[in-house]
Amino acid sequence: MATPKRFFVEEIGEEVALTEGEFRHAKNVLRLAAGDEVTLLDGTGKAYTAIVSRVEKSRMLLHVTGEQTQDTEPMSAMCLIVGLLKGDKTELVVQKATELGAEKVVIFSSAYCSAYMNENKLERLKRVSQEAAKQCRRTRAPEIVYREHLKGALEEGMPYESKLFACEFLKENGAPMSEIKGSCALVVGSEGGFSEEEFSMAREMGYRGVSLGKRILRAETAAIAMLSVAAYFLGELG
Ligand code: SAH
Repeated sequence: MATPKRFFVEEIGEEVALTEGEFRHAKNVLRLAAGDEVTLLDGTGKAYTAIVSRVEKSRMLLHVTGEQTQDTEPMSAMCLIVGLLKGDKTELVVQKATELGAEKVVIFSSAYCSAYMNENKLERLKRVSQEAAKQCRRTRAPEIVYREHLKGALEEGMPYESKLFACEFLKENGAPMSEIKGSCALVVGSEGGFSEEEFSMAREMGYRGVSLGKRILRAETAAIAMLSVAAYFLGELG
């Protein structure tokens, strides 16, 4: 096998079992069998080498042989705070945010947001982030958090050093993205955009307005562009 396949597990020990979705994927799709080597991720940023020891009816047993040194996590913490989008657009944003290195994605509903969230959708988003993390070889999947109101979502961004709010109706010059330092929280609205009141609230909480140029970008484009630019200025790209 070229590159060992990657699996998330709850806990690492000498013997580990893959169950449920990870088990079915390993057995039915990848057709792994005893003796095959895989990489296990425990979500804390560590990666381990393991060998399949036995395939049972509903689980696959693995023997962990050692810890790997992998350096695919970004140095700077980036948190994307984004309005809930229609259809599968939020999934797209979560996937791209994972690839670009976000440590957390906060999704919120707001005044002009017309999509709705439920438990299944949130679970699905968590799976999307795990799949994206495996594919891009991160050792950690970003935490996915849902907040029913913008205020709660903005509070999630308070611990970050640079707090930037992409505002489509910004009147004065925005904060330059090139001055971004340390950790950052980046806010992008849903398809409906933001209200003046929402922007004032964010400013009172310490967020600075940012312009993403003369054109109005779709929310998913704005989120990916903003994260990419932040990652660039934080030295994470290239
Ligand atoms: N419905 C709104 C546009 C919303 S765009 C309107 O017609 O005006 C969705 C989100 O993307 C916005 O809330 C903002 O966070 C971001 N965005 C899009 N274009 C932007 C720009 N030129 N500058 C800053 N933010 C932008």
